[in-house]
Amino acid sequence: MLRRLRRFQSDYFPRHQQRFQDLVAQGQHPKTLFIGCSDSRVVPYLLTGAGPGELFIVRNVGAFVPPYDGSYGLHGTMAAIEFAVLSLHVERIIVCGHSHCGAIRASYEGVPDEAVALKAWLELGREALLPVCPVPEALRRTEQRAVVLQLERLMAYPFVQREVEAGKLTLHGWHYVIEDGEIHVFDVEQGDFVPASLASNAGTGPYPHFVEHDGQILSV
Ligand SMILES: [Zn+2]
Repeated sequence: MLRRLRRFQSDYFPRHQQRFQDLVAQGQHPKTLFIGCSDSRVVPYLLTGAGPGELFIVRNVGAFVPPYDGSYGLHGTMAAIEFAVLSLHVERIIVCGHSHCGAIRASYEGVPDEAVALKAWLELGREALLPVCPVPEALRRTEQRAVVLQLERLMAYPFVQREVEAGKLTLHGWHYVIEDGEIHVFDVEQGDFVPASLASNAGTGPYPHFVEHDGQILSV
C-alpha cells in the first residue's frame, strides 16, 4: 500500500498538479452528488470518466438514503446530501445500485446477530423486497426497486424537492451491471431501467409514486 501511495505522488500527481492546485485555490465545485453502494466493484470515477473535483461522493451499504423524518438519527448520508445540495449547489444527484449487491442479498437472507447496525440499516431497502425466493432475476429487480425507493426518499427532503421543482436539480437512478460493464438508467417515462447505450435520457425528477408494470406501487 505504501508503494502505491508513493507511486501516486511520483507518477500521477505531477501530470495533474495544476488541476489539483486549481481545486485548492478555487475550491471544489462538483456538479454531481453520487450516492453509491460501498461495494468495492463500484468505481464511480471509472464509470463516469470523472476526474478530481467532479464528483461529491457518499457511499454506504446498499446506496441507501435515510428518511428525512430523522428516524435514523444523525446520519452521515443525510449530512452529505445537505452539504451537496445546500452548500455546493450540485445540479444532479445519482443513486447508484448494482448487480450482485450484498446488501440486497442480505436483506433476504439475514445478517449475523452481532451485526446490529447492519440489520437496522437494511430496513431502508425493505420496501423494495419482493415476496419471492431471491433468485438472480428477483435480486436484480430488487436492486433496481431499491434505487427507485431511495430516489423517492430523496424527494421527501424539502430542499431536494424545492430544487427539483425549480429545475435546478435532477435526480438519476442507476443500476450498474458489473459483469456487462454497463449502467442501466431509470427512465421515468418508461418506468423501467434502460441500458445506457439505448437510453434517451438519464432520468429527471420529480418522482411521483412509481407504478411498476405489475401494478405494484412502490412508495415511501
Ligand atoms: Zn451493494
